[in-house]
Amino acid sequence: MSVIVVGSMAFDAIETPFGKSNKIVGGAATYIAWSASNFTRPVQQISVVGGDFPQEELDMLEARGVQMEGVQIKKDRKSFFWSGRYHMDMNTRDTLETQLNVLGDFEPIVPDSYQGADILMLGNLSPAVQLSVIEQLKKRPKLIVLDTMNFWMDTAMTELEKVLQEVDVLLVNDSEARQLSAQYSLVRAAREIMKMGPKFLVIKKGEHGALLFHGDHVFFAPALPLDEVFDPTGAGDTFAGGFVGYLDSTKDFSFEGMKSAIVIGSAIASFCVEKFGTTRLKELTKSNIDERVQQFVELVNFDIALV
Ligand code: AMP
Repeated sequence: MSVIVVGSMAFDAIETPFGKSNKIVGGAATYIAWSASNFTRPVQQISVVGGDFPQEELDMLEARGVQMEGVQIKKDRKSFFWSGRYHMDMNTRDTLETQLNVLGDFEPIVPDSYQGADILMLGNLSPAVQLSVIEQLKKRPKLIVLDTMNFWMDTAMTELEKVLQEVDVLLVNDSEARQLSAQYSLVRAAREIMKMGPKFLVIKKGEHGALLFHGDHVFFAPALPLDEVFDPTGAGDTFAGGFVGYLDSTKDFSFEGMKSAIVIGSAIASFCVEKFGTTRLKELTKSNIDERVQQFVELVNFDIALV
């Protein structure tokens, strides 16, 4: 049982209307690994960092069953850096700066020990790198999940189209789904996107939950209404980590199985936003997660008489 995770491991600087962080550890693959390792182990990480990336962060992940053989450390170079500022609604944000650094010429190498994984989680990263990982796998994983963002739609659409043809599940947010499909209606957008390759599509809508599409089926999982949202950075990746981690533990890749997985993804993402960076994810216990999943069940559970 294992999941391969590919994505950025990075430094982020975040501004919200309520506070500002210094340079903190982030990156799509960092959040995915913290999240997925609650449900399955090992998580087999593929990424690249500079000599400036704290060794203790890698050690903490390793202690949770995240394998680091596929993480390249470029001692004399700098890690990927991203900075963003959230708007008042905390759902939308502007990228202030992206320094690719080691990610700019990253050539992933899939270690032999990673071959045979059931799930490949392609976190947000250049589509060329994502494609290279797919091509290095000797046996196609049972499930390939892709996360991407508008940045790659703007700069690498041809490669992104190639990756889309190879994946089973695509995770995007609502504005990215609209950009990718050139459709406003999310139902139409889903139809167009599923023609591009993925059989399942998850559209994340931040504090408004997530939609799962498959053929003509649709399912909706809410987001938990929270008292305080401190920092939404990484919520999408945390969702992705919970989604694939849970699926790897159940091995049920049907529409029904994915319905549960998006509830789990939403539950774990709701923790991520409560503190800056990965802080909250590092504190989580199994009973915290169980309690929150139960809150989700109660949130949408109702009896109604037909009129
Ligand atoms: P999310 O809030 O889930 O969309 O993910 C935020 C994380 O994505 C941050 O920790 C960033 O380091 C990382 N990130 C932002 N832009 C990129 C990019 N172009 N490529 C890879 N990772 C990125």
